[in-house]
Amino acid sequence: MSDSIFSKIIRGEIPCHRVYQDESVLAFLDINPLSRGHVLVVPKEPAATMADLSDPAAAGLGKALPRICRAVVKATGAASYNLLQNNGADAGQEVMHVHVHVIPRYPEDDTGLRVSWKPRAFDHDAGAELARKIARLL
Ligand code: 5GP
Repeated sequence: MSDSIFSKIIRGEIPCHRVYQDESVLAFLDINPLSRGHVLVVPKEPAATMADLSDPAAAGLGKALPRICRAVVKATGAASYNLLQNNGADAGQEVMHVHVHVIPRYPEDDTGLRVSWKPRAFDHDAGAELARKIARLL
């Protein structure tokens, strides 16, 4: 469990530009936006990462996200947007309270956000073993 800056925002101890709230989710504008309309969607449950989130909180998050995306797209006019969700320091997570970034994208607006990765060769034997291992844990 974390008591991050987002918990303080959820409790109303720190102000935010709120766009949505229900029993399980709060959404507000990011204070350092990558683009106009950059929204953070934050479960009220103080879980640090997605893997720590309870099923009911995850359901609330999943229900709210498409609605919030639709509103952001309509309000900003952005035809495209990224959902970004960092878990853990190695993944770039700075606030240890699970959150989803909704980042509207505009033509000619260089956010610096790039989806570029270096795929590596797939080992079918190791992949099959790993898939079984993950499946056993679900
Ligand atoms: P992360 O790197 O953890 O995925 O992203 C954390 C995000 O939270 C950053 O984009 C940062 O700008 C935003 N943020 C950090 N502190 C505050 C705050 O006090 N208010 C708001 N609205 N956003 C914050």
